[in-house]
Amino acid sequence: MNNEKKITLENLVNDPGSLSEYDPNAMSIDKAREYIHKFLEVNLKTEYVNTEDALNRVLAETIISKINVPNYNNSAMDGFAFNLDSIKKKNTLEVTSTILAGDLSRQKIKAGFAAQVMTGSKIPNGTDTVLPFELVKQENDSIVISELPKKGANIRQLGEDIKKDGEVLKKGTFLRPAEIGLIASVGINKTKVFKRLKVSFFSTGDEVVKAGQPIKSGQVFDSNHFTIQSMLKRINVQCIDLGIIPDDKKLIEKTLRKAAKLSDAIITTGGVSVGKADYMKDILKKIGKVLFWKLSIKPGRPMAYGVFKTTPYFGLPGNPVAAMITFYQLVQPALKYLMGHDGYKLPILFKARCIAPIIKRPGRMEFQRGIFTSKNGELSVEPTPHQGSGVLSSMSKANCLIVLDIDQKSITVDEYVNIQLMEGLV
Ligand code: AMP
Ligand code: MG
Repeated sequence: MNNEKKITLENLVNDPGSLSEYDPNAMSIDKAREYIHKFLEVNLKTEYVNTEDALNRVLAETIISKINVPNYNNSAMDGFAFNLDSIKKKNTLEVTSTILAGDLSRQKIKAGFAAQVMTGSKIPNGTDTVLPFELVKQENDSIVISELPKKGANIRQLGEDIKKDGEVLKKGTFLRPAEIGLIASVGINKTKVFKRLKVSFFSTGDEVVKAGQPIKSGQVFDSNHFTIQSMLKRINVQCIDLGIIPDDKKLIEKTLRKAAKLSDAIITTGGVSVGKADYMKDILKKIGKVLFWKLSIKPGRPMAYGVFKTTPYFGLPGNPVAAMITFYQLVQPALKYLMGHDGYKLPILFKARCIAPIIKRPGRMEFQRGIFTSKNGELSVEPTPHQGSGVLSSMSKANCLIVLDIDQKSITVDEYVNIQLMEGLV
């Protein structure tokens, strides 16, 4: 008889080890992303903010334009406007008026005459083409045109950027400077956005000490706190700092309960491995649900994901590099989704020539810290000298991650590897 359980989320949560499809002791990053996603729900409230304050927020409604942009045909150049057909008969036109940008009067130019126009000036009735100053000869009050332009040349048409009643931006768009300007260009000064996501975080570990405090041999300053908080700030999350919690089951449980009340997601670092004082997984099993706690990636093997009531929980490794890598690769996409940001994607991979050998065994995906350079259009990369998951300076020296697939073996010099630029990741 086949005793294998069907793979459902409930089975997965209640008894991850019982399922044959994957090994929870070494879940692939793709599976992990898939399972994380299944447990996420966007339930943020919305608010109106001044458009200039909407940078790095997520649009909570699709914007439809009430106007055409531009809302009048206008000149793209400083030059002369005329009717093209009229110069087919004679190539000298008398200039009868000058129209500046902002001049709202309705002017009509008769066939055979021209108007001087500036960039952004209204195109006067009766004209359909503009030639810049440089391309015409000026003689007294007239211009001489020697080369026939195309009809409509140098005119920006009504609605060519945005049409009246047309869609400007979709709900779920992450607002960058271009989008802020675009919203303003259709005249909207209050923008409906999702409220900022609230994320609680705390570090765990008896040995972990806050920067600024005295430190003894055997202790370590809490760098994770600062990297996690900074990465959260970069994506405009509201951070709730719950401090450093010692390896004490009761205290950790209490802090987790508090975090779930205060926030939309919880992040901790440390205590998710198999050490004697690694309690996070057991605590979460008791008061919530654990989905996985080990990934087949390096660094970042011990990473837990679960749900406490309805709040997603990310238990990141204590090692500082591993905490950052798992944040970027798994937590940031999840938080982006929770923020309402539609279609967030990690930066794409580029091929680069590896100028130093890399030792790797198949079976785990690796994210090595690399330094890439670009010379004559070719990218080359080398790993930073110290790849230990505790060597935070490697993250600071690196400008990219060298992404080595699970099946990849060692890399020889001049072999091409995938790299992911750090710019854009953060
Ligand atoms: P753990 O995941 O708790 O087993 O910790 C793994 C390693 O990361 C240990 O060497 C810890 O001392 C170190 N570590 C844990 N938390 C932090 C932290 N917040 N800042 C810097 N290092 C840490
Ligand atoms: Mg620890």
